Amino acid sequence: MRFPVFLAAVLLGLAFPSCERQRNPANPAMGGENGVESPDLEEQADLEETIAALTGGAAEQAEAGILTRVLNGAGLPPDLAVRLEAAVAESPAFVLDLLACLEGDPFLRRLVDKSHPLPEDYEPEDLVELVPGSYEVNRRGLLLRRPAAEALERMAVAARTDGVVLAASSAYRSYNYQVEVYGRNVREMGQVVADRESARPGYSQHQMGLVVDFGSIDDSFAQTRAGRWILEHGSRFGWSLSFPDGYEEATGYRWESWHYRYVGEDLSAFIDLWFGGIQQYALQFIHAWQGANWEADAWEGASWEGPGDS
Ligand SMILES: [Zn+2]
Repeated sequence: MRFPVFLAAVLLGLAFPSCERQRNPANPAMGGENGVESPDLEEQADLEETIAALTGGAAEQAEAGILTRVLNGAGLPPDLAVRLEAAVAESPAFVLDLLACLEGDPFLRRLVDKSHPLPEDYEPEDLVELVPGSYEVNRRGLLLRRPAAEALERMAVAARTDGVVLAASSAYRSYNYQVEVYGRNVREMGQVVADRESARPGYSQHQMGLVVDFGSIDDSFAQTRAGRWILEHGSRFGWSLSFPDGYEEATGYRWESWHYRYVGEDLSAFIDLWFGGIQQYALQFIHAWQGANWEADAWEGASWEGPGDS
């Protein structure tokens, strides 16, 4: 589903009366001298109505404080949820950025983590083979979805300009290939260690064809020129670090300095600006938003049962 962004802008204009129209001192409901509502609360209520209208939600959803419910239901750290709620009350910037992220390819914003698998038979239709040139490949036959491959090319060209050569080591993995990868990791490391850095089949972002593991695929990558360059510049090209240092509790995976997911430039900017660069939080928020609003997630169903269920 696509939102008409121009319509969003018009409606958001209506949602912020302090910008668009004068308060009427004779009308208490407008926050005049006898009014009981603070301007913040009034604007918050208006914004929630606007969001409900934009998303086809019912009026009662707006009354129930849909945004508050989504923020609370998204599993975000409480301080982040509070900050975002305040930001939304203050200006339409967050909602406009969100609407931009909700345009276009839904897989770019799809939450795939230890609780949200892909269907076993999901295979992207636009996989293309990576062609070394601007970047290197550490083995033949690596595949990515076309938009990700094109974004990798753009990023690699920019890296070359800075004298840095990127090397792709792993990209698309089919469900069946992930069966092998996960099985091998469990045999070599034991299940507990394997689950910290290897996804169970169906739960890997690699199955989306939107992920590249760069370089050595180990911790040494972070200290390489390529590792530092992507961390600093990758977001500009739509690439987002999936499992950052210190967020294992949120992502389910230990720090993986080499694993970048292509989310598109709108979403990577949204992640950086509003979610402190933590992809997991932004995708959880969008997932909760969609669940609360307009898109019944047809693929929802399977859930992570914890160690021992495979
Ligand atoms: Zn990876």
